Amino acid sequence: MSAQARFVGIHTGSFSTPAAGNPTVVMVEAAYRHHGLDARYLNCEVTAGGPPDAVAGARAMGWAGFNCSLPHKVAVIDHLVALAASAQVIGAVNTVVATDGELVGHNTDGQGFVESLRTELDPAGLEVVVLGAGGAARAVAVETALAGAASVIVVNRDVRRSEELARVVTAGTGVPAAYVPWDRTYAVPGSAGVVVNATSVGFGDGEALVDIDPDSVRADLVVADVVVSPPHTAFLRLARARGARTLDGLGMLVGQGALAVQHWTGLEPDRKVMRAAAARALGL
Ligand code: NDP
Repeated sequence: MSAQARFVGIHTGSFSTPAAGNPTVVMVEAAYRHHGLDARYLNCEVTAGGPPDAVAGARAMGWAGFNCSLPHKVAVIDHLVALAASAQVIGAVNTVVATDGELVGHNTDGQGFVESLRTELDPAGLEVVVLGAGGAARAVAVETALAGAASVIVVNRDVRRSEELARVVTAGTGVPAAYVPWDRTYAVPGSAGVVVNATSVGFGDGEALVDIDPDSVRADLVVADVVVSPPHTAFLRLARARGARTLDGLGMLVGQGALAVQHWTGLEPDRKVMRAAAARALGL
């Protein structure tokens, strides 16, 4: 950290709408406090047309960077000078970093997911099934491919989106990706090593379950869910009942936030402190 940064403090934050209830604020501020940093994270309500002014404001005020959440993850790209490699492939930015006075877009969502996944197993050489083809699924599919997955299968109701994501993974990472239309109960293939629910099914409803054949969820799978609230989703409970190892969405949330803090401050933050703060913010 430079002497000047220490004097004025480090300014970071989040641009999204609706901004209320964003657990990242408490999680990142807890890391700043824990490590004694003179740094702030401001939760900013930025509506749909807001990115040009919000980004100009952050640049003018010398912010170290900021997170972009819904609905700005794609729209913000037009206001940045460059994208990191995986953000380029994913086509979305969740973390902007001031680098030599210029704003560069990164995507730490998928990297945070892979960091969490590696606490259970390394995806290298494995077939990864991704349920969903939205923003979270794009990040998870691209980063698991970049982490060495042997192949990716994208399962989604909207075939256009799943076909597009499979194409993006193959073109951007060189890893073969296939898509499956989710028009009936999905059976996880015996060749899969990891299954990730990257849909919004389960968000705000602990009983909502993805349409998946329970008998295809084997004990030797690692089953992950990106849904954070509530983190003990019906899908993870099913997987645990079948003997599979599971990972909740909090791991991904903490991982993506920790990587953002690293970018902004140069410091490797304590994940345990961040996880405890995020859990408190979510009322767990
Ligand atoms: P999007 O709106 O971009 O995508 C939603 C996805 O869910 C689509 O693939 C959609 O399918 C699918 N879907 C919705 N309802 C159903 C259903 N009933 N059955 C099957 N598929 C369904 O959302 P995001 O990708 O941005 O977010 C998805 C989830 O990920 C949210 O819960 C979000 O909170 C979470 N998330 C977690 C993060 C973390 O750090 N843990 C980070 C980012 C997101 P279709 O295309 O067919 O409509």
